[in-house]
Amino acid sequence: MEKRLEVWDRPGVCGLDNSGNFCYFNAVLQCVCSTVPLVEYLLHPDTRKELARAKCQVAQVFVRLLEQMWLGRSSSCAPVEARSLLCSILPQFNNDSQQDAQELLLLLFNALHDDLKKVGRRKTHSSKHLIQDQDRKCATGLGESTIVSKLFEGSFSYVTVCMRCDHKTHNTQTFTVLSLPIPTHISKCSIQDCLSPFFEQTLLTGAERMLCSACELRKETALVTFLDKPPEILVLHLKRFGCKGKNQVKLRTNVTFTTELDLSLFLSSSAQKTSCTFYRLYAVVNHIGHLNMGHYTALCHNTLTRTWHCFDDSAVRELHDNHVQSPDAYVLLYSCKPFRKPKIPGL
Ligand SMILES: [Zn+2]
Repeated sequence: MEKRLEVWDRPGVCGLDNSGNFCYFNAVLQCVCSTVPLVEYLLHPDTRKELARAKCQVAQVFVRLLEQMWLGRSSSCAPVEARSLLCSILPQFNNDSQQDAQELLLLLFNALHDDLKKVGRRKTHSSKHLIQDQDRKCATGLGESTIVSKLFEGSFSYVTVCMRCDHKTHNTQTFTVLSLPIPTHISKCSIQDCLSPFFEQTLLTGAERMLCSACELRKETALVTFLDKPPEILVLHLKRFGCKGKNQVKLRTNVTFTTELDLSLFLSSSAQKTSCTFYRLYAVVNHIGHLNMGHYTALCHNTLTRTWHCFDDSAVRELHDNHVQSPDAYVLLYSCKPFRKPKIPGL
């Protein structure tokens, strides 16, 4: 079912050389490379001009790497510049030890978001009211909107109910990665089994009880979470690295998933009318092996070939749809809008 590719003519399908212990970095970069709306934005000639003017160094490194991966004609490349950028902006990754791909993904999104904010600020100088108008429309917890927050940021609403006086409070919180605890007492469960507890009503007791602002007493509190604004791109992180007593362990529960995900059960009533409900899987980060001796690979769907590929550093092979689901899945990336053939100049 799986075959190694001989002739290389697949834009966006490019292995990444690994000179050290950087498989976690390569796996994350492959997920970024297959996020079509992000790639289109970064490789658009207008964006590139803006990035140069605003001196967005982080984003420009991504641009150069994505250009190689989408427009280069070789089956792999060396992400040397991206790696030295990573080590300079996130010094905690400047060593040869195995790191957490999910943590890196989140920090890279933040770094890219912060860098891209310079473009908006520059524009604010030249055409002030135009940008202020846009900012009001895309107000988020991150303050300023960029392609990163536009694609990846979602929000929850929490409703708490005082069990004594029924007083309700509403709060919201934004997120870019949804970290899901996985059941430990069973060997197999579905992704829905991981999502449901996150959105189930829970009763806060003991030290978790909240102080009610109406009756001014600390009584048992009911807590319900809804997805208020589902993100355009949903990143699910399966919390495989946990603790058993004092020991750190890797949880090996086989979490089953399909390429389609329906979130309608978890949406708030206002979100149900307008927002994304159905998602399609387009990338997976796998973690193989043990807690400290593991290896990361990425499985990504390519919109041109309409097939999946497995990226194991510089080695790339096509993968049958049936082999995407595996017990090694660690981070799952879904999009609610189907990716089209990317509009990249020169493609
Ligand atoms: Zn109360």
